[in-house]
Amino acid sequence: MGTQHMNYCMECGTKLTIKPLKSEGEVPFCERCETFVFPVFSTACSMIVMNPEQTKILLIKQYGRDDYILVAGYVNKGEDAEDAALREIREELGVEAAGIRFNRTHYFGPSNTLMINFRVLLPSEEIHPNEEIDDWRWFSLAEAREKVRPNSLARDFLEGMLDGAYHFHDNKYGLSRKKQVT
Ligand SMILES: [Zn+2]
Repeated sequence: MGTQHMNYCMECGTKLTIKPLKSEGEVPFCERCETFVFPVFSTACSMIVMNPEQTKILLIKQYGRDDYILVAGYVNKGEDAEDAALREIREELGVEAAGIRFNRTHYFGPSNTLMINFRVLLPSEEIHPNEEIDDWRWFSLAEAREKVRPNSLARDFLEGMLDGAYHFHDNKYGLSRKKQVT
């Protein structure tokens, strides 16, 4: 389970011990709650928003920053990631998406978040962004790739989709991609 072990029980605050659990190996355990404690992290979705012809990508600016980014938001507890993606599109862009397709995921350490990326197709280029969006623009596919910050998750998601690099994953994929997003 990697290096993201918790030290204390989130329910009762007791310092966790480590116990063997069948096929899982050594797992943190709360003696007081008598339960194994599995990793806790947030889940978010980000969306590569495309026009109906799939010739343009919508990028936005948010939080007073100058970088163009993808539309994104956190997945609520009990919500499917696809539903979260469509809800964010509805809330932030004021439109119903016409289609959605999974792209890929990245774990983002600084915010302890698993980011799930989708490609979302809009019914037209007309959007009605809410007040959380400072600025937005449709870019050609090539422009979009250049506009997002290098070494960002957005850049990696975009390149993955545009280069078709993720149609099938092999073992090398997992090892070689990891170093690029820190
Ligand atoms: Zn506990």
